[in-house]
Amino acid sequence: MVKAEGVHKSYGPAHILKGIDLEVNNGEVFCLIGPSGSGKSTFLRCINHLEKINAGRLWVDGELVGYRQKGDKLYELKDSEVAAQRRDIGMVFQRFNLFPHMTALENVMEAPVQVKGETKAVARERAARLLDRVGLGDKAGNFPSQLSGGQQQRVAIARALAMEPKLMLFDEPTSALDPELVGDVLDVMRDLAESGMTMVVVTHEMGFAREVGDSLVFMDGGVVVESGHPREVLTNPQHDRTKAFLSKVL
Ligand code: ATP
Ligand code: MG
Repeated sequence: MVKAEGVHKSYGPAHILKGIDLEVNNGEVFCLIGPSGSGKSTFLRCINHLEKINAGRLWVDGELVGYRQKGDKLYELKDSEVAAQRRDIGMVFQRFNLFPHMTALENVMEAPVQVKGETKAVARERAARLLDRVGLGDKAGNFPSQLSGGQQQRVAIARALAMEPKLMLFDEPTSALDPELVGDVLDVMRDLAESGMTMVVVTHEMGFAREVGDSLVFMDGGVVVESGHPREVLTNPQHDRTKAFLSKVL
């Protein structure tokens, strides 16, 4: 579903991603861990072309992200074509970024109506179903300010799912939450994983990575230091940098 080959990203003189190679299979939960500043968020943003890569290649579902290849040459896609690619990728951030003036239901309905031109009736029916699925069927009429952080994050997940993405990206979705609210959000993500969704998850929740993850990558300094099955990497890390990181977080 996702393939990265030699992906480099710099911000001005700051070289952040230094040749990332990895592959995320269909239906897989792919966890990304690593110290602050190692480039995890930057890499996620490259996957949906919120950031342009400086070298290498990145594919989502067999399509080059942001470019079209003709012969040996790459041509940048038009904005409308990039938007079409992005539509298939759901993203959930640390901060939920819900529209504050809309109810939970309206937040979930918004993109299908505005972006896909769906009728409100169809969008409303799906939004209600998705809110049920994340355990918030009874909160559809609440505004974000009337929801806990964990509930808001579950609305954000429902909102991403409303576009029926083929890939979901999560960037530390629980790290801004009070500890007692983390479990409900992880449960929703676990259900989503069981439904077969392909997910790339940047997380500090090692329990989630161990129980739900199919693959795990440890990144440091813009490179993949170590990868493998989560249980393998977490219990039997091979590299000193991985060992040092895990000794701090486990
Ligand atoms: P964290 O765990 O703290 O979220 P991270 O692994 O997600 O860290 P990134 O957010 O990808 O790290 O940042 C990697 C590096 O890139 C950092 O040094 C950061 O300062 C730098 N960086 C990120 N975005 C930009 C930007 N828009 N302009 C310049 N530098 C940036
Ligand atoms: Mg980050």
